Amino acid sequence: MTQFHQWFQELQAERAIKALKKNNFDARFFPKASEAVEEVWKMIPEGSTVGYGGSLTLNQIGFLEEAQKRPIQFLNPFAKGLSPEEGEKIRRQIFSADFFLSSSNAVTEDGKLYNIDATGNRVGAMIYGPKKVILICGANKIVKDIAEAQKKVKEWTAPMNVKRLGYKNPCGQTGECSDCASADRICNAYVILAKKPRRTDISVFIIGEFLGL
Ligand code: SF4
Repeated sequence: MTQFHQWFQELQAERAIKALKKNNFDARFFPKASEAVEEVWKMIPEGSTVGYGGSLTLNQIGFLEEAQKRPIQFLNPFAKGLSPEEGEKIRRQIFSADFFLSSSNAVTEDGKLYNIDATGNRVGAMIYGPKKVILICGANKIVKDIAEAQKKVKEWTAPMNVKRLGYKNPCGQTGECSDCASADRICNAYVILAKKPRRTDISVFIIGEFLGL
């Protein structure tokens, strides 16, 4: 990333953070992922139950690896070796966890969060259930507004996620959305958090690095 990209992204992040705060989210900027991760672990006391919403960003910053070593009860429905029934049980346990960690598909400069979800457990847990939600996003997730978020996530993020997850949906072959009816369609719920949901404490950490899709 050039110094000009960095300058531009920091100004975008500043606008998004100001607007997120106005919309009652706790929002903070960290130039480096390691600083955000350090802050996350300061917030999570020993013995906490911590739910994980599948996220390339969290994997990239080393959260997933570290969570498995910490003295916490880590709820990972994607853990290797789980049966579908065990994964499902963990997804439901996450709704009563102390913490839920994930990313957001997009963050708008006017302080909104936009996500698509296949099952709905990830967006569901962001809204109500876990007492504290921490969303970690690279500054590349910032877009102007919801219209731009919808376009970017549908035309860019979703096809790349399908490819990453190895599904057979058409966009995983063509790179374009055809509004498929595939069994593995990942775009079933389109959710905008316009302001912080009433009973959930949400922190949005924006990192000055390119992370996730
Ligand atoms: S609706 Fe189907 S084709 Fe379109 S992005 Fe989602 S999974 Fe891909």
